[in-house]
Amino acid sequence: MTYDHQKIEPKWQKYWEKESLYRGIDFSKKEKRYILIEFPYPSGERLHVGHGRSYCCLDAVARLRRMQGYNVLFPIGWDAFGLPAENYAIKTGIHPSITTKENIANAKKQAKSWGLSFDWEREINTTDPDYYKWTQWIFLQLYKKGLAYKKEIPVNWCPKDKTNLADEEVVAGKCERCGTPVERRMQSQWLLKITAYSDRLIDDLKSVDYREDIKAQQINWIGRSVGAKIKFKILDHKSEITVFTTRPDTLYGATFLVLSPEKAQDYLDLIASDKRSGVADYVKKALNKSELQRQEELKDKTGVFTGLFAQNPFTGEKLPVWVADFVLSGYGTGAIMAVPAHDQRDFEFAKKYDLPLKEVVKNEKESRFPNEAFEGEGTLINSGQFDGLQKEEAIDKITQFLEQKKMGEGAVDYKLRDWIFSRQHYWGEPIPIIFCRNCWEEKSEKQKKEAREGYDFSKIDGKEHAVVTVSEEELPVGLPFVENYKPTETGASPLAEIKKWVEVHCPICDSQARRETDTMPNWAGSSWYFLRYLDPKNDKRFADRKKMDYWLPVDWYNGGMEHTTLHLLYSRFWYKVLADLKLVPGIEPYAKRTSHGVVLGPDGQKMSKSRENVVNPDEVVVEFGADTFRLYEAFMGPFEQTIAWDPKGVLGVRRFLDRVWKAQQEVVSRKLTVDSGELKRKLHQLIKKVEEDTLSLKFNTAIAEMMKFTNQLAISNYQLSIEDWEVFLQVLAPYAPHLAEELWHGLGERDSIHRQPWPKHDPKLIAEETVTIVVQVNGKMRGKLELPAGIREASVTELAADLDSVKSHFYGKKVAKTIFIPDNLINFVIS
Ligand SMILES: [Zn+2]
Ligand SMILES: [Zn+2]
Repeated sequence: MTYDHQKIEPKWQKYWEKESLYRGIDFSKKEKRYILIEFPYPSGERLHVGHGRSYCCLDAVARLRRMQGYNVLFPIGWDAFGLPAENYAIKTGIHPSITTKENIANAKKQAKSWGLSFDWEREINTTDPDYYKWTQWIFLQLYKKGLAYKKEIPVNWCPKDKTNLADEEVVAGKCERCGTPVERRMQSQWLLKITAYSDRLIDDLKSVDYREDIKAQQINWIGRSVGAKIKFKILDHKSEITVFTTRPDTLYGATFLVLSPEKAQDYLDLIASDKRSGVADYVKKALNKSELQRQEELKDKTGVFTGLFAQNPFTGEKLPVWVADFVLSGYGTGAIMAVPAHDQRDFEFAKKYDLPLKEVVKNEKESRFPNEAFEGEGTLINSGQFDGLQKEEAIDKITQFLEQKKMGEGAVDYKLRDWIFSRQHYWGEPIPIIFCRNCWEEKSEKQKKEAREGYDFSKIDGKEHAVVTVSEEELPVGLPFVENYKPTETGASPLAEIKKWVEVHCPICDSQARRETDTMPNWAGSSWYFLRYLDPKNDKRFADRKKMDYWLPVDWYNGGMEHTTLHLLYSRFWYKVLADLKLVPGIEPYAKRTSHGVVLGPDGQKMSKSRENVVNPDEVVVEFGADTFRLYEAFMGPFEQTIAWDPKGVLGVRRFLDRVWKAQQEVVSRKLTVDSGELKRKLHQLIKKVEEDTLSLKFNTAIAEMMKFTNQLAISNYQLSIEDWEVFLQVLAPYAPHLAEELWHGLGERDSIHRQPWPKHDPKLIAEETVTIVVQVNGKMRGKLELPAGIREASVTELAADLDSVKSHFYGKKVAKTIFIPDNLINFVIS
């Protein structure tokens, strides 16, 4: 027996839309729940089954929350600027403004066909000028706070995409998008000073409920380390090297210093001529590698001796100075003191180049020095006046001593770098900045000097220009139409070629000036989109404060693990900036963050066109229906795990829905008014289980429980009243909203099932009945067991045989047979 999903699903989708069933109501007296999924890029690939996993499961949460009486906001929009859209336009040869519209229309049709309960009235699109006006406005606030600046920096350049990539977009030395090896080059770029928020981005994680590994990834990415800066004098020169170390307690164990290739450039002049060219060559080669490449080559550490020696400030020992590319310029000061006895990386380097080792931390139990470095905690030795101290105390005392002697100071270092914010691409938000030569020339020398130090200027064709902001009333700076939107070979933005657009009058002095032609990265629009949902049509500000006070923070945000160090960190940063400007409530945008596992192809491999293992969700919806698709997405496995798509599983889910369809006919034909007690208990257990599991990411077990219930229903010959059957439909409704609605109306109900309250389970009814089972050996009572009613023989046998009073009768004997009377007695017959 089967039902016609193609007939019923579109029917109910239209009905829900007409009734505006899923509208989030501003300022409702009901308690609010803001549930958010990451809005998609409308690329040519359409929505895939990976989107489905996140959207369908969180849709079940949204629907359950509505039934529980919450005022739910579950919005959707389109993250439509950026490379996926631009690359699609380049591939098809159709302008991105056209392909983006088409792709959005298609994705929207898909999302609607899945029966997702989005509040479509709040739909947003990051490429809409009414939207990006506010993205530009927020950029100006960052600029005015000194958090945006332009500077010449080495950048990661993808020669295939012809774009600069943020460090986060470079994976294993390759472009995250296309896999092409990344090159390094110098370019003037806008940067956002996310590093000013490093501590808060770590510390404020205490106030939110994120999955632990998401927190850990963010903390590691920011990479805060506490330690000290220590100065080492270079022998025979009036120069010194400052190192950063997290282990000042091992200072007496330092046996050499290592400079990063970048840092080494500062010391080339000091190097004797016989060594200089060798060092310079090494440095040059190293600078052509990206930091990641250098880290990956760690196993095969290389280095070169400079011929210079430095002096240990405490012991006066002579330490050779090396250059090695495993030391990164971005870490600390770009120079380290190597303590090979207590740092494995230094240990390996020392072994390779035959440098001395000196043990200064003793731990008889754990240390395996001199076979390997000992990085753990122990007692200081060979450390003069500090001998006998333990790690923490030694760090404190040695740092204090360094400060007293003016040889160093306590310091904190971070791995996090400022966020490279400009792209030389067409399909992005124009950066609302104008460069004016006249304004620059009118500055005093002192002002010019300040501007150069603060990066508040830009060199164009070799000439310095003042940075002038577009006035807020002039926003948005519209993205002009260009015929040729492809990235240029030179790396300049295609916008630079549109003279009419580039040349403007300076808003300050009215002389001829030029626009910034770089655009924003695709992370810009997504850094604040969850705020715009709250007030998508506001043309006075990015969102009304009262609406934000009502809806924020986002109660539950689900998205991909790949966004943990990019989007999630960026959007938290923007939120904190807005919070400092008193423009948003609280300090964190998302109260809770979860993440779903990747969906693999049926062959267990990552889905890709070349492998021909891509599952098209639209085909599943056409063949088996949206409810089957939704239910399978939720049922396929534990939500957080990576899982392969299984076509048989899809069939199984459809069969379950067909059984539900059949069950209603059976239940109705019975016309029962009183249920079997057991079924009623199971039903109330089901209510509780589905509610709890849905809210704790256990969507698969919630569905398994529904399947179990329908099996029991069939076994007990549908002994359920229609009233209780309706309760079952309510439980099913968040997961299979169309079928539940159809069956609900089939019973004569007039209102939507999705407006019904979530059924309440009866705790008394749920409690399992317990029975006392008598345990006998050869007919004599040897013990008793209190067990739930209906427990099976195998379990009882195992529990009874484990009783000490029973076991003692088994020695040297054999159990010939067991007699079992359910819920009553078990008798072991032994011989
Ligand atoms: Zn690329
Ligand atoms: Zn000017």
